[in-house]
Amino acid sequence: LSDRDGKIWMDGQMVDWRDAKIHVLTHTLHYGCGVFEGVRAYNTAKGTAIFRLEEHTQRLLNSAKILRMTIPFTKEQIMQAQVDVVRENKLESCYLRPLSWIGSRKLGISPKGNHIHLMVAAWAWGAYLGDEGMTRGIRVKISSYTRHHVNITMTQAKAVSNYTNSILANMEALDDGYDEAMLLDANGFVSEGSGENLFVVKDGVVYTPDLSAGALNGITRNTVLHICKDLGLEVVQKRITRDEVYIADEAFFSGTAAEITPIRELDRIELGQAGYVGSRGPITEKIQSAFFDIVNGRNPRYAHWLTQV
Ligand code: PMP
Repeated sequence: LSDRDGKIWMDGQMVDWRDAKIHVLTHTLHYGCGVFEGVRAYNTAKGTAIFRLEEHTQRLLNSAKILRMTIPFTKEQIMQAQVDVVRENKLESCYLRPLSWIGSRKLGISPKGNHIHLMVAAWAWGAYLGDEGMTRGIRVKISSYTRHHVNITMTQAKAVSNYTNSILANMEALDDGYDEAMLLDANGFVSEGSGENLFVVKDGVVYTPDLSAGALNGITRNTVLHICKDLGLEVVQKRITRDEVYIADEAFFSGTAAEITPIRELDRIELGQAGYVGSRGPITEKIQSAFFDIVNGRNPRYAHWLTQV
């Protein structure tokens, strides 16, 4: 990934991709205190547009606030940086990665006295869990790793260090022959995937874990809530047990990278009802299709969620 043409925005400047480097004594590299975002831009009929740029940028600033990091750029500057990176790299559709980290002036747990840095990179990135997963659904395993308790790390911050837990869960799932992990909270209730929020459908009602289960307040999750309202689907945010997912009619993950990815199997139990067992469910398909209409600019009602590049 590091050896290619293009530009990365670093601390206010466009830097050649290959030169966008940091020192090995960077505080964040040692102690994991950093915050980031995952954003997507889509190739709409009106040209490339970034989806929910303002919400992603606000979440980055919120994550930084939670970790007591003061990013030395305004929200407007950070939004502009993202637009500029997509334009500069001539990307039609892409994934964007803004990341803020603590510098290398000094080490020791206390980050005081260090500079806070910010970068934005962007590159083309297709279906995160595979093209087949989008239509057929993926196979998921309940992780042996517990999701963060809400007072061990800060679960509403998209913090770099939170992802060690995600990596452990994801590696375990992949090593065991699954596509992705589903993590339970410290009380044993379903929380989220390693990088996705979870939804289940039962008897026409859509359920998603409430955020006290330690799941990130996903922007795609929020988009799904809007879509369900538009489709006249009732949504209930509540505690969900592992066996409720086993007997759900449908289940899917939501996330910027994963978009809307159906889940066809959990712990080798095929999900779903007659006609749809072990495949994408009909309500999931409707939500997925509405999602792609919105992000690709085909639903004028949500034009305000698209920032033209
Ligand atoms: N949970 C976790 C742990 C994530 O990393 C992500 C991806 N940012 C999500 C949920 C989904 O959030 P969003 O829809 O905002 O991408």
